[in-house]
Amino acid sequence: MAEQDWMKRARALVGKQYGRVYAWDKVNAPMIRQWCELMGVAVPVDADGTVLAPAAMLQVWCMEGPVANNYPPGSTTENPYEVLKLMETEGFASVVAVNSELSFERMVREGEKLYYTTRLDSVGEEKTTALGTGFFVTLVMTFFAEQSAGDEKVGELLFRVFKFRPANPVKPADSSSGSKADLPAGPPKIKRSAPGISDDNRFFWDGVREGRLLIQRCKSCGSLRHPPGPVCPSCHSFEWDTLQASGGGTVYSFVVMHYPEVPPFDHPNPIGLIELDEGTRLVAQLVGIKPSEVQIGQRVQVEFNAFNDGELVLPQFRPVPA
Ligand code: ZN
Repeated sequence: MAEQDWMKRARALVGKQYGRVYAWDKVNAPMIRQWCELMGVAVPVDADGTVLAPAAMLQVWCMEGPVANNYPPGSTTENPYEVLKLMETEGFASVVAVNSELSFERMVREGEKLYYTTRLDSVGEEKTTALGTGFFVTLVMTFFAEQSAGDEKVGELLFRVFKFRPANPVKPADSSSGSKADLPAGPPKIKRSAPGISDDNRFFWDGVREGRLLIQRCKSCGSLRHPPGPVCPSCHSFEWDTLQASGGGTVYSFVVMHYPEVPPFDHPNPIGLIELDEGTRLVAQLVGIKPSEVQIGQRVQVEFNAFNDGELVLPQFRPVPA
């Protein structure tokens, strides 16, 4: 059977070692400091004053950067994910990462040069999950520090994915709502993306649909808050109701989006941070003004405009005389 043939080829790859992927740079203090700043942790320093890299940073050193597969000279050109490619040709087109487990031998030090090698650790039996039918594939990357007396293993990353045939494949978007689905009507019209609506912010979007701009108000201390959330940041009460805003406010700050030009928006696209007269601020598109003429402090008034054939209503702000 064909499937058994390709599966034999997939299983034959288990245990295969793939060559080295080098780090672009030696372990260095600026990158460690920036990483620690972002994570909000202190920079580890050895007793002799050498900067150490936090263990959880291990994967960072050998990353390719924003350009895919841009690895330093000397790195392998083999594809450690070849088994996934093989599965793709058999219809297991989707992938989801399920485990990423780092383990460490020691912290690496400023000045060390790292590389890793990859081993295809296992290909599981065919499994059916809620996502679909496929295979768990496990790869292990082993990280080494180059040493004149023999390279030293410093850590390991176990990475497991589920490569599967989706149970409910997503149907291509149908641009027409009628029965002419077999006639392509040109490129689909790109809609405005809809807000993510949760139990915390549903009142806001329901209000917008009714032409009302609602601000969440704490029932215990009366503080107003936006964006909506379950707890009052002032007194930690869960009790809240809403206040209907007048819709008047001022431009507290703004940006004008020039690039990238993302449909369906017109560009340049002015977006305001509006301070409502009641005191809370919200982000909304500015309308009825040339992007070059938006000014901080400008008086604005809300209006409610429908998009996506009426499916979506958004609050937008238009300049009014002061
Ligand atoms: Zn409160």
